[in-house]
Amino acid sequence: SLAIELSSLDRRHLLHPSTNPKLQAETGPKLIFTGAEGIYLHDMSGQKYIDGVSMLWNVNLGHGNKELAKAAYDQMVNVAYASSFYGYANEPTVRLAEKIASLTPGDLNTVFFTSGGSESNDTAFKLSRFYWQLQGYTEKRTIISLKRGYHGVTVSAQRATGIEVYREFSGSTDPDIVNAKAHLTECELGDRSHPEYEGCIRSIIEKLGKDKIAAVIVEPIQGAGGVHIPPEGYLQAVRKLCDEFNIHLIADEVICGFGRTGKMFGVDHWDVVPDFMSIAKGITSGYIQLGGVVMREKIRDAFTSYDGMLAHGFTYSGHPAACAVGLKNIEILERDGLIEKARKLGEQLEKGLLYLEDKYEFVSGSRVKGLLAGFDLMKDSDKNIPFEESVKASVSVVDEAYQRGLLIRPFDFEPGMNIVAIAPPFITADNELERIINIVDDSLAA
Ligand code: PLP
Repeated sequence: SLAIELSSLDRRHLLHPSTNPKLQAETGPKLIFTGAEGIYLHDMSGQKYIDGVSMLWNVNLGHGNKELAKAAYDQMVNVAYASSFYGYANEPTVRLAEKIASLTPGDLNTVFFTSGGSESNDTAFKLSRFYWQLQGYTEKRTIISLKRGYHGVTVSAQRATGIEVYREFSGSTDPDIVNAKAHLTECELGDRSHPEYEGCIRSIIEKLGKDKIAAVIVEPIQGAGGVHIPPEGYLQAVRKLCDEFNIHLIADEVICGFGRTGKMFGVDHWDVVPDFMSIAKGITSGYIQLGGVVMREKIRDAFTSYDGMLAHGFTYSGHPAACAVGLKNIEILERDGLIEKARKLGEQLEKGLLYLEDKYEFVSGSRVKGLLAGFDLMKDSDKNIPFEESVKASVSVVDEAYQRGLLIRPFDFEPGMNIVAIAPPFITADNELERIINIVDDSLAA
């Protein structure tokens, strides 16, 4: 059958990202998708699955959106591809840059386009370092990142990532990146006295010296680290710290951006204006590859005063078809009130998760902002006792959900960590969200 053929071709010819390669080669793909519409994906056997994490937290408008497809088609039959190198421009790229500038807070008004989140973060690091060079700082290069932050897999983004298995993969290094032993809610070094734990970052700055540090990078809400919402005041405290020491703040909005958390951007929950903002994923709802770095006017002005070559750029920086889809995606988000809808659905999801916390003693720590949600599984959540390492609690629950037609995501990359993430598309109907919660309930019971 076709399924057997594709499976055998896959095992031989495809190396899958973020997958156990031995298992993959032995068993072949778990699911082969053949169709998708709304919040559903269909596999080859005709089974239907609810996309409970919008694939990689990116398919925010859901699957099969014909308006997005048409925007790509219309642009492709007009100017499918044109470069933005050497001063060339095209309409959708310019219009999308202006649209993004109108949505981002403060004077974040200029965009450098990329094809995804990793490229955006590497670009933000390079532009931050370049800015400081232009200001006469020859050693301001270090980027400080947080434990459990996820920033991608290109060499610098990988080193900024605070999840060991990614950070250490292949032994690559960018010597100018320091991953703090600091998390949003805990601190393994330095000053632990500050209630918002920003003291951890302060102690690193004081140790290295501010003239060696270019930027601090944070996700407004950590995603792949297990959905961690910072304590109130945290982001503002980090912003103040960066101002105090003349350091850039980079907000990695790759997951949070474009409505995922019930506001346009994650930083909007705390009224913080970063110096650089990395965007990707939700900008096109995953229909086509696109990312970018948005920067403040002061930074843009420094670059536009530089009379040399800005020797950085990707073939697909400002891809016209991708930008046309981005524009249409934002138009639909605004026209259909989908960010407000994500916020409201989040309230329903929060109620559901609190109910599950009440019902199951091993469920705790539920956290929800818009449609970005997670919860912990613990042997005894009252006493904060994790499951033994041999108990794969989050993987088991996610597998039970899979058996019941719901795709969600486990996180267990640290000993004792058992987190489950839920992040459905914004177009999820109330009764579909109810169904998601019911399946999670049954999976926990199982
Ligand atoms: N930053 C964050 C917060 C992410 O969640 C991701 C991907 O999951 C990335 C960066 C990397 O983006 P990409 O996979 O598009 O390179």
